[in-house]
Formats: sequence, C-alpha cells, structure tokens
Amino acid sequence: MEKVEFVVVGAGLSGLATALVLAEAGAEVLVVERGDYPGSKNVTGGRLYLGPVRSYFPDLWQEAPLERRVVKERLTMMAPTSSITAELSSERFHNPPYPSFTLLHATFDRWLADQASARGAMVISGYKVDDLIYKEGKVIGIVSSGDEIHADAVVAADGALSFMAEKAGLQESRAAKNYAVTAKEVIEFPPHVIEDRFGLENDEGAAQLFFGSLTGGIHGGGFLYTNRASLSLGLVLAIQDLMDKSGSDLPDGQSALSPHNLLEAFKDRSEIRPLIADGHTVEYSAHIIPEGGFRAMPRLVTDGMLIVGDAAGFTLNMGVTVRGMDFALASGAMAAQTLLRAREGADFSSASLSYYESLIKESFIWQDLKTFQNMPAFLANSRLYERYPSIACDLLEQILWVGEGPKEKLSTTILRTIRQNLLRVDVLRDLFMMRKI
Ligand SMILES: Cc1cc2nc3c(=O)[nH]c(=O)nc-3n(C[C@H](O)[C@H](O)[C@H](O)COP(=O)(O)OP(=O)(O)OC[C@H]3O[C@@H](n4cnc5c(N)ncnc54)[C@H](O)[C@@H]3O)c2cc1C
Repeated sequence: MEKVEFVVVGAGLSGLATALVLAEAGAEVLVVERGDYPGSKNVTGGRLYLGPVRSYFPDLWQEAPLERRVVKERLTMMAPTSSITAELSSERFHNPPYPSFTLLHATFDRWLADQASARGAMVISGYKVDDLIYKEGKVIGIVSSGDEIHADAVVAADGALSFMAEKAGLQESRAAKNYAVTAKEVIEFPPHVIEDRFGLENDEGAAQLFFGSLTGGIHGGGFLYTNRASLSLGLVLAIQDLMDKSGSDLPDGQSALSPHNLLEAFKDRSEIRPLIADGHTVEYSAHIIPEGGFRAMPRLVTDGMLIVGDAAGFTLNMGVTVRGMDFALASGAMAAQTLLRAREGADFSSASLSYYESLIKESFIWQDLKTFQNMPAFLANSRLYERYPSIACDLLEQILWVGEGPKEKLSTTILRTIRQNLLRVDVLRDLFMMRKI
C-alpha cells in the first residue's frame, strides 16, 4: 500500500471515531495501531459520559459492549485513619437516556474497531508509526517499520504524549506540571459479588472517586468503577508533585510515594479491603493523562495533519468527574467532518483544516475546558489532600462519637473546629480561589 486518502495514527477512541465517520462517508482510511489489538496498550478509568457524545454517534450505543450503567455515585474524602463518603442515588440515573457507563478498553475499543472496519476502514495492529513524511513543509504520510504510506492527510490520535504532535511542531514543549501518572488494576469477581457489595441490581453500576490522604499529600485522587465482572481501581498522581515529594525513604531505596506503593496502601485501606477481597487481579497498568487543560493545549492543525483526543490535551479532571473519552470521541468526529469537507475542495492546507478548530471551539470540548481552565491550579493545592479532609473527618467523628463521659454541645465542637482550623488567611484564600472554578 503506497497511498491512502487518510491515515490515522492510534486506535484509541479518538482515532477509531475519526476512522468510523470517515469510512461511513466512503473515504479511504487506514488506522495504524502499535498495540497487538485496539485497546491493548491504552488505559482508561473508566466511565464514559454519553450525554455529550450521543448526538455525534446516534446509532452506536444500542449494541456497544458497555459494562454497567452508573446509577450510584460516591465521593470519598480520606484522612489518614478515617473517611467520609457521600453517595448520590437518583431516579434520574435509572431512566433513559442513561448518563454514563463503565467500559474496558480491551473490549470496547476492539468492538469500535470492528464497527469502523465494517464501514470500510482498514485497521492494522502491531505497527508503530515511527515518523511523518513531509513535502514542502506539508505532512504527506507516515513511516512505519520502514514502510512509507502516503496520504492526503494524517490524523494524530496517538494519545497523551503524542510523538506525532511533537514531530509536526504542534506541541513544542511539555511541562511535567501538565501531566499525571496513573496506576490501575482490574480485579475480577463474579457479577453477583459486585452487585452484593455495591448494592446494585443486574446491569447497574457504581462509580466512586476518592481524594485526600490516599495520595500521600500528592495532588491527585483515586477511582473505583464497577464493570460487569470486575472492578477498575486506580490512582491518578500529578507528575510534578510526585517528583518533588517522593524520595527513597524505604529500605530498598524505593519511595513510599511511588504510584505502585500508594496503590498498594490504598488497596489496604479498610474502606477498600472488603470491596476487593477474594478478587483476582487480571490487569495492572500505568499510563499518563494530560491534565494541563485549556492553558496547555497544543496547536490543533498544520498543513496535512490534525490532532485529536489526548494527543490534543482534551481531558478534564475536576476531582469529582474525570473526562477524556467523550472528548476523544467527539474530537474524532469533528476531525472526520473537517477532512470530508477538505476532501471536497482537495485542500488539506492548515487554512482548510482550521475548520476543525472552529468546530472544536463551538463544541462542549472547548466550552468545558475554558469554563474550568482554573481547575488545574485549584487542584494543585496540597491542603485539599491533607488538611481539609482531616478537619472534615475529625469534625464528623467528634459529632458522631459517644464516649464514656458527657458529650459537649454540638455548637461548641463545630465552633472550636472553625476557630482552630478555618479562620486563617490560607483558608480564606482557598475560598476566594473557589470563585474561579
Ligand atoms: C487511569 C485513567 C483513568 C481515566 N479515567 C477516565 C474516565 O473515567 N472517563 C473518561 O472519560 N476518561 C478517563 N480517562 C481519560 C481517557 O481514557 C482518555 O482521555 C481517552 O481514552 C483518550 O483516547 P485517545 O484515543 O485520544 O488516546 P488513547 O486511548 O491513549 O489511544 C492512543 C492510541 O495510540 C496508539 N499509539 C500511540 N503511539 C503510536 C504510534 N507511534 N504508532 C501507532 N500507534 C500509536 C496507542 O497504542 C493507543 O492505542 C482516564 C485515563 C486514565 C489513564
């Protein structure tokens, strides 16, 4: 094969969404994936919010191998030896259209690749794209395993540390503060065990996010999602903070704050232990998430190439919600629309492809990233992970605790906590900062 109309680098959700829409319109598209199969190398939490993407792919969801529809939301704030969990159950979650589903990349991405192939896309796995080919400053193809494949345009859908975006000069530099590292396990159970432990019925699912002492003071958090016959459990840790705070404090020279050790300690917490007891870990993965948000976005197009999904930095971690898959799917659809339009005029210059930027700017992706552009700065505050969870957990423990002696008035307990911990300049500054998120 020497020339195709479009080459997509990477068969994650963004690349496959691009290919699916292109193929459906009759375009010739080749997806090149370095993993053994789509979904074998990429990692997600993961829960997909369907609301933002239904209209882009109206017919896709009926048959999709989604794991469980989320009907229970839990948020857990952890202090070193205590925690508070808020649980939201709502009738709204039980009525279609269901807002979110859990999924596993290994199943879902393969299925999505089959959908793209059924519409005429060529998806080849086990090939790494090593380079881009240029002619007169324009991207005109890729090099993989020494083979050159030419194309009218290339889509970089190669994930968080997009080599393609760097090669094309769209991502000029990378700052550690804009990325998080993750460690995740998939732990198998019979479905009825999951339903019993989380109080679920049939295909219902739960999503639980954690913040506080579980990350050892590092900016980040934890997640737990119920799949049909497994749990996805993991941690997300800001890389810069991890580098600044982790040392070699263990006898073997390792750090207690390494992602692996923090995940082990998280699994050993009394809040998690009973949920994963007797489970069988079938997958362990580590990955990177771009978390710089709106202010860290690379340029999106150049002559002959555009970038989608994580490669374009389209993720939004708000502590209470983690999103990236909906952005990946929608940006893929918009990239495809742009290429189909460019194809009509046979013009794949950056001026023509800048239509993609205008589509992104009109979409929820840009709006949400812009609205929450101060979120990364807000979350980079260690008081959110150390001090505030401890204050809240201690206060609730004092309120609920009945000891041997007489109990003091609740107002005394509460006012003392406020006086001792919250009437401070840094707390007022944090409250002021909340205005911006
Ligand atoms: C631990 C974790 C938890 C998350 N939780 C959630 C969540 O709950 N909800 C949510 O919406 N989002 C979540 N996200 C983010 C979400 O997973 C991503 O935003 C989304 O999957 C990005 O899709 P993508 O297709 O852009 O990139 P990816 O899924 O990373 O796909 C990129 C693909 O490109 C391939 N590739 C890379 N380089 C090359 C090359 N040179 N040649 C060929 N192939 C290449 C890779 O192998 C990979 O398959 C989470 C992410 C992580 C890591």
